[in-house]
Amino acid sequence: MIRTALRHHAPTELAEAVALLDSHAERAAVLGGGTMLVPRLTRGELDLDHVIDLRRLGLGTATVTDGRVRVGARATYANLLAAPAFPGTAQLLQRVAGGITGGPQIRCQGTVCGSAAYANPSTEVPAALVALDATMHLHGPGGARTAPAAAFFLDAYKVDLRRGELLTGVTVAARPARLGYCKLKLAEGSWPIATAAAVLPPAGAADHAPGYRGAVVTLGAISTRPIKLDLAPVLDDAGRLPGDADVDEWVAARIGEPWEDELAPGGYRRMVAGAVLRRALHRAHEENR
Ligand SMILES: Cc1cc2nc3c(=O)[nH]c(=O)nc-3n(C[C@H](O)[C@H](O)[C@H](O)COP(=O)(O)OP(=O)(O)OC[C@H]3O[C@@H](n4cnc5c(N)ncnc54)[C@H](O)[C@@H]3O)c2cc1C
Repeated sequence: MIRTALRHHAPTELAEAVALLDSHAERAAVLGGGTMLVPRLTRGELDLDHVIDLRRLGLGTATVTDGRVRVGARATYANLLAAPAFPGTAQLLQRVAGGITGGPQIRCQGTVCGSAAYANPSTEVPAALVALDATMHLHGPGGARTAPAAAFFLDAYKVDLRRGELLTGVTVAARPARLGYCKLKLAEGSWPIATAAAVLPPAGAADHAPGYRGAVVTLGAISTRPIKLDLAPVLDDAGRLPGDADVDEWVAARIGEPWEDELAPGGYRRMVAGAVLRRALHRAHEENR
């Protein structure tokens, strides 16, 4: 039960939502699916007067147009899974949606944009969006603007959302590519300890074909922000990785301060990062032959 008086707003216009958010500033929060916000209010971790519910703004769809996937702020993981298969690299979003460990309840309630706005390092969405070079669509008192995902995620629980701004959606380009994803978790019902998304040029294309940067792997849940690694410096002429120990050392050196939480200490995350990266890369090769 939420024990404080709270005003629920469900605006039908984006401008109204932004005006509410702007005028109440620190006393208001956006409600996506509520999987994080509502329990935090129940536990008294947040002291708010207003909740701005996005459900009547028509932002609940995930659509594919001209090789791009646009995910609205209110699109849940279940909405993504109910949509036709996303083409190319965009299918990573459906893989993440299908693997959310909270089961149907969380998949029907939680949103991709809510996860992005919350930016919990131990979640998959931030790194998936960085791996896909997603564009974040933001709307605030000054109107609409966009930001690349890599610049949007600033730190643990910290994103580039300015006063009165909300995230209206994300867009990812659905490029043809070989994709491999790996999620390490303690148990079926556990959150990720480490994730890796490998994106390689399509089979047969040169490593540095236009629009590609060779093999790129984005690590998630390892640090406060996603870590995007271009593997070109470590691959041999045939595109192979060196020995496991060398890869582990190379990856570990690029982690900086690893993320710690109740699931795993930072040292463990640093230790497993190389293995998770290798597995994603292996899957990108094996699953896209
Ligand atoms: C049991 C359980 C299991 C889970 N398992 C996984 C897992 O395996 N992998 C994984 O990656 N994640 C997992 N999650 C996390 C889940 O992905 C997030 O809880 C969910 O996506 C958050 O979305 P939401 O719409 O419910 O956000 P909300 O709870 O509504 O909001 C979260 C925060 O973001 C803000 N916000 C929401 N939408 C917007 C917006 N459009 N603009 C600006 N601010 C906004 C809110 O004000 C709030 O601060 C799990 C969660 C639970 C509870």
